[in-house]
Amino acid sequence: MELKQGVKPLGITTEIILAVLIASEVYKSFEVDFVVTSITDGKHSQQHSLHYSGNAFDIRIKNIPDKKMIDEIFLEIRRRLTNDYQVVLEPTHIHIEYQPAF
Ligand SMILES: [Zn+2]
Repeated sequence: MELKQGVKPLGITTEIILAVLIASEVYKSFEVDFVVTSITDGKHSQQHSLHYSGNAFDIRIKNIPDKKMIDEIFLEIRRRLTNDYQVVLEPTHIHIEYQPAF
């Protein structure tokens, strides 16, 4: 596991740490390096992005060899997390956020 230079973990929630661990295991099972590219740092599209409260993180996908494997990794991460997590496949990264329904 690796943090991209500039990533700020200040304020990350325990719920997100757990998801980071699970997603890391998925990448490891595919023998792909796991690089976190954003936690509470950076500029995010939605004004009230869950990144700013430590409830979201992004993972690099450009190091995954092909589109099919990207889809498989994305689906496996989603399968292993509960419905309180939203896993979104963006053009440049996988975004994971924690937002329980109740
Ligand atoms: Zn994100």
